Amino acid sequence: MARFACTRCGKCCISLGRHIRIERSISSAYHYCRVAVTGELLPVAVHPRHREIFESGKKDPSWCPFLRKEEGDLFTCTIYETRPHLCREFMCRTMLIYNRENREAGYVKGRRTLVTSDPVLESAWKEIDSDTSEAALKERLRNHGYRAERLE
Ligand code: SF4
Ligand code: SF4
Repeated sequence: MARFACTRCGKCCISLGRHIRIERSISSAYHYCRVAVTGELLPVAVHPRHREIFESGKKDPSWCPFLRKEEGDLFTCTIYETRPHLCREFMCRTMLIYNRENREAGYVKGRRTLVTSDPVLESAWKEIDSDTSEAALKERLRNHGYRAERLE
């Protein structure tokens, strides 16, 4: 199993924006955060190293209120250490798929959503039933020359 590596592209936090809000602020650094989809209400703290960017960094009203854009198009969660459970659980990629040359040919989002620009992989994937076990799925992909690796 390989480790999931977040590239800080910010896509998930931008789309989660409509589900996360500041319910109450205790100070500029301490807030109560509400996660609308789960109902979770939790105290969060802006980390001291992010306080400046939280106050004056680039933000957008449609994003999560704790997200800030930094130089180089990198996004930062300013409450990363105290972020909601939903954010801790989220992984935009659950599996990587490599071709015969050991190059990444695609990845899986969520349980079984393939993202690829490789038509051969796409067609092989379509032949695999969605309830096929992971071991069988890997075997089927192997037969087509691909290797799947689960991310954790
Ligand atoms: S979890 Fe995925 S979508 Fe979210 S910032 Fe990291 S790489 Fe981007
Ligand atoms: S709390 Fe942090 S990890 Fe969660 S959506 Fe907002 S910026 Fe992203």
